[in-house]
Amino acid sequence: MSDNLLSKMLKENDWILADGGTGTELFKMGLTSGDAPELWNLEYPDKVKQLYKSFLDEGSDLILTNSFGSNSARLKLHGQEKNSYMLSKKSAEIGKEIIGNYNRSIVLAGSIGPTGEMIEPLGSMTYNEATNIFKEQSRGLRDGGVDVLWIETMSHIDEFKAAVAAAKSLNMQWCGTMSFDTSGRTMMGITPLEFKNLILKLDHKPIAFGANCGVGSSDLLRTIKSFINKDIKIIAKGNAGIPKFKGGKIVYDGTPEIMAKYACYARDLGASIIGGCCGTTPLHIREMKKSLSENLTLREISLDMIEDCFGKFSSKSDSSRVKDTSKNKRRRRVH
Ligand SMILES: [Zn+2]
Repeated sequence: MSDNLLSKMLKENDWILADGGTGTELFKMGLTSGDAPELWNLEYPDKVKQLYKSFLDEGSDLILTNSFGSNSARLKLHGQEKNSYMLSKKSAEIGKEIIGNYNRSIVLAGSIGPTGEMIEPLGSMTYNEATNIFKEQSRGLRDGGVDVLWIETMSHIDEFKAAVAAAKSLNMQWCGTMSFDTSGRTMMGITPLEFKNLILKLDHKPIAFGANCGVGSSDLLRTIKSFINKDIKIIAKGNAGIPKFKGGKIVYDGTPEIMAKYACYARDLGASIIGGCCGTTPLHIREMKKSLSENLTLREISLDMIEDCFGKFSSKSDSSRVKDTSKNKRRRRVH
């Protein structure tokens, strides 16, 4: 298991660059809301290829497959529940094919998003059902050739664990991220610290874990700061700014310049896999690569520095620590 391409790249490099937002890029290519993006693996493979290529051309070292919702629970909404394995496999095969055109190491990560259902007792799906659903999706991704599974945008601990159980049962390496929103917690109330503690206790540990999507750079960077540990690498995959509703459309206000700064802040805080989520275009990725390659000196990043650069946090605390530890220290020293 130690010869995994991602592990190898993380050993050889201080950071690697992931990709940007899959969904938001597919919308630009003509996907309409309500469509299942994963069906494009079958119907418009050239567009999916174009999506992967657009990030690889700007220097991404890792791309996610177009399989975020290719689990049978989500596909059921489109009458495609029988095609989870096939659509997942296809998303990876298209990635494998395009990666073959580049003369460098590139990780193909099999995206696994939430089922959209609640697990018992909150909902009617059992933990075992969830595990089996993720297992089918993971098998498709594995057979299509992914290097690792990429469990992402999760908010519920049990659902996250079910996806990890699927990876374990297939003996597959994985990475995992949860999304933290305006409260500094996931939609289901999980704090970054709780997530980190869960990860550190798992018997089938990930190659890396972190945060994706969420609110904006400020919050995401604060979350990353809570993840610092000495054993497992950290992933930062934040949105390009904060989603805003403009003229009937959701737009992201983070410019490529802001994302370039965010990338360096994420690295300086300790993240090793750095990318973007919703609203992050190939142009953002280009600027992120440039700035990570040019600014080599690591700085110590405080919460104040994050707020000064990217704006106020959306909540007072992410419950991981007393908000301003530096002030507490100062106070203690006075005594
Ligand atoms: Zn996102």
